[in-house]
Amino acid sequence: MQKLQNYINGELVAPVGEQYIDNYNPATGKVYSLIPDSDERDVNLATEAAKAAFPKWSVTPKEERSRIMLKVSELIEKNLERLALAESTDNGKPVALARMVDIPRAASNFHFYATAILHFASESHAMEDTALNYTLRSPVGVAGCISPWNLPLYLFTWKIAPAIASGNCVVAKPSEITPMTAYLLSELCMEAGLPKGVLNIVHGYGHKVGSAITKHPAIPLISFTGGTKTGAEIARVAAPMFKKLSLELGGKNPNLIFADCNFENALKTTLNSSFANQGQICLCGSRIFIEKSIYEKFKSEFVSRAKAMKVGNPADSSSKLGAVVSKAHMEKILSYIQLAEEEGGTVLCGGHQVKQEGEFAEGYYIAPTIIEGLPHDCRTNQEEIFGPVVTIAPFESEEEVLKYANSTQYGLASIVWTENLTRAHRLAGLLHSGIVWINCWLLRDLRTPFGGVKNSGVGREGGFEALHFFTEPKNVCIKLK
Ligand code: NDP
Repeated sequence: MQKLQNYINGELVAPVGEQYIDNYNPATGKVYSLIPDSDERDVNLATEAAKAAFPKWSVTPKEERSRIMLKVSELIEKNLERLALAESTDNGKPVALARMVDIPRAASNFHFYATAILHFASESHAMEDTALNYTLRSPVGVAGCISPWNLPLYLFTWKIAPAIASGNCVVAKPSEITPMTAYLLSELCMEAGLPKGVLNIVHGYGHKVGSAITKHPAIPLISFTGGTKTGAEIARVAAPMFKKLSLELGGKNPNLIFADCNFENALKTTLNSSFANQGQICLCGSRIFIEKSIYEKFKSEFVSRAKAMKVGNPADSSSKLGAVVSKAHMEKILSYIQLAEEEGGTVLCGGHQVKQEGEFAEGYYIAPTIIEGLPHDCRTNQEEIFGPVVTIAPFESEEEVLKYANSTQYGLASIVWTENLTRAHRLAGLLHSGIVWINCWLLRDLRTPFGGVKNSGVGREGGFEALHFFTEPKNVCIKLK
């Protein structure tokens, strides 16, 4: 059975403790590879390697950093098929989705920051003829990057690329549930000629590797994407050490559908924003509010199309949904469906595990689930489920739906469907979220600020925001007379 290895100081190495964790294929429920069960000792080695590489990498001309990163991007593209298959096997997502979204986006992340760094400039502030200020922006040192399992390579590279483009060295930890493409990335970085120690990847559990990164005194910056509870724990440890923190956390995104929307577009995209990646995208719209006059029509079309979505073998191109990521996560999602029923909800479709045949019989499949009849403030509508489960509810006025939309602790993304331009702009200003999509979903321009408000996070990724985060500004003031 394949044993993954850590990537430390430019080499693939076994964990110091020589312990391994089983890695499951969610589509079959079977162990198919082993992951290093690393600990503090491996994080220390990785941090030493990153520290040693930093003096040289931080002054390597940005054109050279860019050249190497473009090579990594090219290699990701060249290995598209292999990486897409690996992502699907590790995560359970349809291969077609990994081929169309996850892997191309990972290549784009490297490409984008390889070129962004060439255009990154700092400010100067003239005080008329008295003085001149200019801002130096230097890399911070060793950056700790911790990422989740839902979009494994996509989110891993979204952190690593800006960190190394701006001259930092990195100690990174992918989710131990989906480590395979991060492992393959380490091979590609070696092939691309990334100098040793610039990127170090330590595999293992959050409470061991993640926590060792968070509390390491030589790592002054943490970029984390994951659940709100874990984010709070990281902040608790890192804040008293005055570390720079970027936290991209959970969501419970509202989808507001007005009667004047383009019905077909709203319906088609809502199916996607509800069930893509088995609903395991932090940006999925999980609370769907529909204006009363079109509620019955929308509901009946939405339910009938959701029922028609095939759930099964992720490698089969007709499968719209693959498996959810793990047995534990499947059980969590099913327990939320049970909670919804206890809270008085009616399951209109799905609501159960989907049993498959043959080699997929032990896989973790859940039918797309639509629930109605729940108040906006019940637990089902307030807590993140992170699976193929949405609620639908009617509303009568803009004021009413705004109250529902803004009622959770989260504020990551909102989706609005209306052809009324004035209303669209008005709501965009009033919705409590870091991102508002109007008449679309998941349309991403990598230059835009990405992140949430309230318990959905602190800070922004994307574009120059990330380059600002991964550099430390220093103002220099020169008196002119
Ligand atoms: P977790 O918070 O459980 O884990 C995220 C990462 O943190 C994993 O690598 C995990 O390791 C690690 N970790 C766990 N405990 C600690 C700790 N004490 N110290 C440091 N690191 C730790 O999230 P999930 O992997 O379950 O991902 C799903 C969550 O991510 C959802 O809430 C989702 O909304 C959110 N998310 C947010 C996004 C955003 O951009 N805002 C985008 C995508 C997802 P391990 O796997 O071993 O537990």
